[in-house]
Amino acid sequence: MSQPPAHLPSARIKRRGLMLVISSPSGAGKSTIARTLLENDPGLSLSVSVTTRPRRGSEIEGVHYHFKSRRDFERMRDSEALLEWAEVHGNCYGTPREAAEVAMSEGRDMLFDIDWQGAQQLQEKMSVDVVSIFILPPSMEELRARLHRRAEDADEVIEQRLANARSEIEHWREYDYVVVNDDLDRAYSAVRAIVQAERLRRDRRPGLFDFVKDLLDT
Ligand code: 5GP
Repeated sequence: MSQPPAHLPSARIKRRGLMLVISSPSGAGKSTIARTLLENDPGLSLSVSVTTRPRRGSEIEGVHYHFKSRRDFERMRDSEALLEWAEVHGNCYGTPREAAEVAMSEGRDMLFDIDWQGAQQLQEKMSVDVVSIFILPPSMEELRARLHRRAEDADEVIEQRLANARSEIEHWREYDYVVVNDDLDRAYSAVRAIVQAERLRRDRRPGLFDFVKDLLDT
């Protein structure tokens, strides 16, 4: 359920766009949950970040990231073109400002796959529109196994990611919701339920005033 079909009365109720922030340590299943959400929810689009990290074999420029040199990244950061940015595992990552601001102003929902530093910055800047979810792995052993199974990074990179996972997890309290991904289908359903409920929040739907007024006037 994203926006109701146009012929239904509830489609008239305009609401603000939602900034759905999903964070987790690498390998906790966040990317799979985010991808499934995007495939099944036409009302949600992905904020494509810029990064200085080298492209992985499976990644496509402009789809997974906009890959930039450090110099170009710094130029964007210094010209306020990024809504937030952070250094993660030695590389820089940032959220392009324009795409997010356009989506919000048009009442469209956007998904941000960003770390705790980015979540913190978005919560400070746009708190009313932000809904944040932290995905926890079921155990550290399982996290290590998933990173090895993924086989996308060198062994030393995996060890660095595991070390960083612990400090990432320490920020779980800063999120609105926490989902343990011990079963992918259940974790996905939980995230979907959160999105559905947040879309129905009264304070996100200024259009309710007119809807209820019309309802009572008839
Ligand atoms: P990866 O290199 O595995 O794609 O991402 C590493 C980490 O950087 C992930 O936790 C991811 O959520 C985070 N990340 C990706 N894009 C951004 C961004 O634009 N801003 C911030 N703060 N973190 C990001």
